[in-house]
Amino acid sequence: MNSKTVIVGGGFAGRQACRALRGADTEIVLFDPRSSTVMLPALPDLAGGWLDEKLLYSPLANLLPKNVRHIQKSVSSIDLNAKTLTADGQTFAFDKLLIAAGSVTDFRGFNQHREQIYHLDSLETALHIRNDFVNYLRRTKQPHIVMAGGGYTGLELAMSLYYRALAENKPCRVTVIDPAPDILPFLPEAKRQYIKTFLARTGATILPGQHVTGFDGQNVTAGNQTFENGFFCWAGGSTFAIPELKGTVARLGDGRLKVNPDLSLPNYPDVFAAGDSAAVEQNGQILRKAINFAWYEGKCAGKNIARHYRGKTTKPFRPFDAGWVIPLHSDSVGQLFSRIWIKGKLGLRLHYFMCGFRNTCLANFAGFVRIAAKLFKEVSHD
Ligand SMILES: Cc1cc2nc3c(=O)[nH]c(=O)nc-3n(C[C@H](O)[C@H](O)[C@H](O)COP(=O)(O)OP(=O)(O)OC[C@H]3O[C@@H](n4cnc5c(N)ncnc54)[C@H](O)[C@@H]3O)c2cc1C
Repeated sequence: MNSKTVIVGGGFAGRQACRALRGADTEIVLFDPRSSTVMLPALPDLAGGWLDEKLLYSPLANLLPKNVRHIQKSVSSIDLNAKTLTADGQTFAFDKLLIAAGSVTDFRGFNQHREQIYHLDSLETALHIRNDFVNYLRRTKQPHIVMAGGGYTGLELAMSLYYRALAENKPCRVTVIDPAPDILPFLPEAKRQYIKTFLARTGATILPGQHVTGFDGQNVTAGNQTFENGFFCWAGGSTFAIPELKGTVARLGDGRLKVNPDLSLPNYPDVFAAGDSAAVEQNGQILRKAINFAWYEGKCAGKNIARHYRGKTTKPFRPFDAGWVIPLHSDSVGQLFSRIWIKGKLGLRLHYFMCGFRNTCLANFAGFVRIAAKLFKEVSHD
């Protein structure tokens, strides 16, 4: 074996790539600071204290093929021309590389008292919210969730916390602030109205076309309004997870790398990207960040790297869109196979079933199937 393949990120894409590469004649090294997986779509429920965190993870060591060497370090920089990367101040060389480091919260330059702003992109951030929100409810007379971001992460988190507050007998106001003209802009009008009607029943206020302009550690300002003593969460988008990338690459505004049909980078045939790190185009549109795409992109990139080593030509990635659901604790909207609309409990059940199906061990699968069957205890908000 005289070649080294490096995979950055052991999430949904990176793990599938490791599996696809296991028979290839190359040394495989995985960089990931974590020792376990994370079922990210269940983070809003974890933050609201609706499920046990054990359901969301399992050790990477149990899942990786035996010939993968896992280096538990975070990659801080990649130099595509020099074919090296840096982790913990050390430099490592690679022959072939897969970038699959997912994404992290994008604060879009908002830097006021950032350490006191809650955000949701990892197990740790979800547990932080879970612990602090219950304390916030206990000490606050008129609790108020102030959410920057009216995308799916912001709304899912807001509703999970809203229902937690109801369950604790501390009804809570919700305000969602978003610079876009409306929430969930990718939805057709009728579906957006469905979500807005549901949110209106919870008393949530949506402030479209507004930016958060100030946060002094306690009070949030948006335009000419100030929200005092709110529980301030930021869900204003996500961005590329690796701090520095040197090379000639084309990227989207959120840092995703534009890739060739076989998921390699233009100019760098030995470098591939998959999952949230990659901007994969289908019919002129960029695929959304989603587990299913990450899973199959990782698998395809791994197979293509293996084909390189065998001297064969690579194959293009062919996406298949099974669908998506936006779970809002007691209601939902989703679409299957790009044509069948679903909503309500059916959507919730499918979401939790998929959290189990794409999970990594039988116990976690069984736990999510149980949630899909029973859902959460209903709390009336009337
Ligand atoms: C709150 C939330 C809800 C979501 N809900 C849904 C949903 O309902 N349905 C859906 O399909 N998708 C959902 N997504 C999106 C989905 O989780 C992602 O698209 C998917 O996880 C991307 O897979 P990935 O392998 O690219 O990245 P990840 O699964 O995020 O894995 C990235 C890995 O890279 C590692 N890493 C990060 N930085 C570095 C670094 N610098 N060096 C080395 N390793 C690094 C991380 O530790 C992690 O293990 C949600 C995401 C969030 C945050």
